[in-house]
Amino acid sequence: MKRWNGWGDDGIDYPLPAQAARYLADLVGPATPPRDAALEQVAAAVPASRLPAHPLVSADAVERVRHARGHSLPDWIALRSGRIVVPDGVAYPNTAGEVRGLIRYAGEVGARLIPYGGGSSVVGHINPLPGEAPVLTVDLARMNRLCSFDETSRLATFEAGVAGPDLEAQLRAHGCTLGHYPQSFEYSTLGGWVATRSSGQQSLGYGRIERLFAGGHVETPAGPLDLPPFPASAAGPDLRELVLGSEGRLGIITEATVRATGIPEREDFRAVFFPDWARACAATREIMQARLPLVMLRLSTPTETETTLALAGHERLIGALERLLAVRGVAEGKCMLILGLAGRDRVVKAARHEALGIAKGHGGVHVGSTFGKQWHKSRFRTPYLRNTLWEAGYALDTLETATSWANVAAMVEAIEVALRPGLEHAGERVHVFTHLSHLYPYGSSIYTTYLYRIAPDPDETLRRWQVLKAAATEAIIAHGGTISHQHGVGSDHLAYLQHEKGSLGMQTIRRLAECFDPEHIMNPGKLIE
Ligand SMILES: Cc1cc2nc3c(=O)[nH]c(=O)nc-3n(C[C@H](O)[C@H](O)[C@H](O)COP(=O)(O)OP(=O)(O)OC[C@H]3O[C@@H](n4cnc5c(N)ncnc54)[C@H](O)[C@@H]3O)c2cc1C
Repeated sequence: MKRWNGWGDDGIDYPLPAQAARYLADLVGPATPPRDAALEQVAAAVPASRLPAHPLVSADAVERVRHARGHSLPDWIALRSGRIVVPDGVAYPNTAGEVRGLIRYAGEVGARLIPYGGGSSVVGHINPLPGEAPVLTVDLARMNRLCSFDETSRLATFEAGVAGPDLEAQLRAHGCTLGHYPQSFEYSTLGGWVATRSSGQQSLGYGRIERLFAGGHVETPAGPLDLPPFPASAAGPDLRELVLGSEGRLGIITEATVRATGIPEREDFRAVFFPDWARACAATREIMQARLPLVMLRLSTPTETETTLALAGHERLIGALERLLAVRGVAEGKCMLILGLAGRDRVVKAARHEALGIAKGHGGVHVGSTFGKQWHKSRFRTPYLRNTLWEAGYALDTLETATSWANVAAMVEAIEVALRPGLEHAGERVHVFTHLSHLYPYGSSIYTTYLYRIAPDPDETLRRWQVLKAAATEAIIAHGGTISHQHGVGSDHLAYLQHEKGSLGMQTIRRLAECFDPEHIMNPGKLIE
């Protein structure tokens, strides 16, 4: 069953190897496991629902707690301390007609409505806010069918509540794949991907969701909106762009048509180690600008490389790797690059040859497929480590941006410099590391992870997060990065959006929301005030 206050299936654990625990204690200090609230205890404190009865709406306390928060660090702090605002009810519609009925009901009873996909948001997208109006969460989990598949055009129309594994299984039965693998793949949904402009780990090859989303159907308070799946169109502004990143503010996406690809003949994941960050970045940029048919590149800074190897737990294998690399002049300060290739056998081999040739020219040492395969195997398991770390007393969070190549090195430095000393006032250390994982010929996303000790008081843990988040976001804005490359705005980035859009831009988004949702029913307090 899905964990109610952490990531993933509660039957799956990610134990921390003993030497990894020692490594963390050396970095930020030994931690004390926090005392988390139990689900029954939190459910028992849930207030009575303010919603009038409706056949599709459940007021069950456990259901309401399970839909109260996503996966940002503030969400975890709230869930694990039991200090949460829960929705007044949860509905599971089966059809677009039922969704329409729920929007009408929300309007009639003065409720606010939160569309809910997999609840994997990490920026406060799905949290009910305190207020006078009752809140109804609309969970699309039952709308998970493949409605039609045009095999000639490779256009598949799904109900929008379909989660990653179900969507892939249904496409694979037709010999196709979407190739969209966010790390939250197990639980996140097609509607959520579209509404947040999500980016999968293999976006380099298959494209971000913007490229995969061909059209669909949206139920809005102002009426239905149909988006035909044209391959391209010059008929004025593209309305699909309005729905992408709409974060539940315009309406509920009930169907989405996606552009599928044939299952690749071959998939190949490799690791290359570079002697230092400057050469690793130069090689990665050159590979990108050569426009080779790769599906993934992921480049770790020296600190992330060291941390990844330390937490992996395969001491003998990693010892052997480090001895081999040292002989080739790659030691202290090394950076790991994972390359992913997929497609026809001959194309994969040719692209691999080219990419490894460029890497070699920058001092890169190719160590074969073991580490690449290991990364691929554990790519959806890594988030489970966050549960283990929390239970050991460490809070872990991530943040991300994107910027042009000329600015990448300075941006990485600025974010890390903002975070590392961020808790000195509290006498605490912060461990920070970064990778580049969604790359473009013109620039890259930057993904930073940071870890600090949980305080005995949840409010203090939250204050520490607020200080760190503000410092990093201000550094991002000062250095000209976007406030989000893939996680979206939600409530955590809302105050910063105006820096990116400007006042006319903000007014445009506000007017747009009003056009689809004149009574302000849809997901208030997210994306825009
Ligand atoms: C461990 C972990 C790893 C992650 N890795 C990635 C990653 O690799 N790449 C990435 O891009 N993101 C990642 N995320 C963030 C998150 O998974 C994405 O934002 C995802 O797209 C959210 O999908 P969801 O179905 O869970 O949506 P939810 O979290 O349920 O909702 C997110 C937003 O979308 C709206 N929404 C959802 N469904 C609909 C709908 N049908 N109609 C209208 N609005 C809707 C909601 O109202 C809300 O505003 C990760 C999160 C976690 C916890």
